[in-house]
Amino acid sequence: MDLGIKGKRGLVCAASKGLGRGCAEALAEAGVNLVINSRTEADITATAREIAEKYGVEVTPVAADITTDEGRAKVLAALGQADILVTNAGGPPPGTWTDWNRDDFIKAIDSNMLSAIALMQALVPGMMQRGWGRVVNITSQSVRSPIAALGLSNTARAGLTGFVAGMSRQVAGQGVVVNNILPGIHATDRAISLDTGVSNQQGISMDEARKRREAGIPAGTYGMPEDFGATCAFLCSQQARFIIGQNILLDGGALNVTI
Ligand code: NAP
Repeated sequence: MDLGIKGKRGLVCAASKGLGRGCAEALAEAGVNLVINSRTEADITATAREIAEKYGVEVTPVAADITTDEGRAKVLAALGQADILVTNAGGPPPGTWTDWNRDDFIKAIDSNMLSAIALMQALVPGMMQRGWGRVVNITSQSVRSPIAALGLSNTARAGLTGFVAGMSRQVAGQGVVVNNILPGIHATDRAISLDTGVSNQQGISMDEARKRREAGIPAGTYGMPEDFGATCAFLCSQQARFIIGQNILLDGGALNVTI
């Protein structure tokens, strides 16, 4: 399918690997010129070079922490204007609900709620003026069903989801389509770190930790960054113009819910 976005300009945050990289690759394949970001200079530079060579689009790497004001300023300066925005950042650490203090909550809210909102506030007005834009926020299945060990994620991402529910409907009339994708478990470094936690806690091997998690997924396996990226690119396509303020769950059927 031709997504109709060849030649558009996009920003994908936290994209040297994992789900962000999956999104960057799928958008590049659709012909989108990109600015991509993550903190480690060598990784983001190598990823940008590989994507540019593979798909023949312009890819500019920016090494910066997207959860800080300075990091976002650096990324936005390199970007200028954008037609497409994919927000993303690392997830918060696991723990139990009694563990976290105010600073922990502020850090999680900065990372997984306020940085996405700040990027939308910076870029969506320009999209509205030009009459076309697409935003995808990478959140988590924890928005639909809380994950006990990830209370910081449950909290911060619920806040972002509430914000998007309201603002997406205020910008749709100017051609800007804003949605969230909620990943269930995908085979990335984040999954390795979550499986390591389970393996240490329960005294089982990494293979066993993964097998046990896979047993709870009707599709039978972890998702891949490529699956995730394809959905992201579709939500950024011309064809997605009527999908407004939705939360698209990509979890292989893991949440046993009717809608
Ligand atoms: P990942 O494989 O660990 O990749 C994280 C990427 O983000 C890397 O490129 C990393 O590079 C970059 N990054 C991390 N913190 C950053 C920051 N502050 N500023 C800029 N770049 C940053 O993680 P993932 O699996 O793709 O997960 C992406 C998001 O989806 C996370 O918020 C995660 O919690 C959420 N999620 C993932 C899953 C899953 O199963 N994978 C499930 C639910 C939710 P640097 O370290 O070099 O910055």
